[in-house]
Amino acid sequence: MKVTGTIVNYYSHCKRQCWLFANKVNLEDNSENVRIGKVLHELKAEKAKKSEVAIENIRIDKITDDYLVEVKKSDADIEAVKWQTLYYLKILKDKGIERKGKIEFIEKNKQEKKTIYVELTKEKEADLEKRLEEIQIYIESDQVAGVLNEPKCKKCAYYEYCYI
Ligand code: SF4
Repeated sequence: MKVTGTIVNYYSHCKRQCWLFANKVNLEDNSENVRIGKVLHELKAEKAKKSEVAIENIRIDKITDDYLVEVKKSDADIEAVKWQTLYYLKILKDKGIERKGKIEFIEKNKQEKKTIYVELTKEKEADLEKRLEEIQIYIESDQVAGVLNEPKCKKCAYYEYCYI
């Protein structure tokens, strides 16, 4: 089973969501949040058709001379997006392309854009490699994590699956 940026993101956000997504229990279309994300993504993709880059199983929003740019619709889980971006930086690095990460959050109803930066330092790279190994073992196991019972569950595409 191939790890993707979304899987890396979900592993931080919710291990249960990570396992369900990786194992193709795909309820993503039911979530309004996911639909908004898709629309934003399509709009963004139209504007920047030439800048989106696909490498192996990942899709990078933009690469500039200095940065790999990841665009998100919400800053609700910055830690998850950071891991996802570090994963993309690592894939690029393995291809001989070294960049820093720039994450832009374009939130609904907000004019201003929030931007944060990440860097694939040696320590982060070691942490990431360890994490990727953990993720691989986890998604291939038959031990799906339990429900979180956290406020974020209400916005999750798997809410009905988990609680109803
Ligand atoms: S509803 Fe909650 S527990 Fe279930 S997958 Fe989503 S975030 Fe995880």
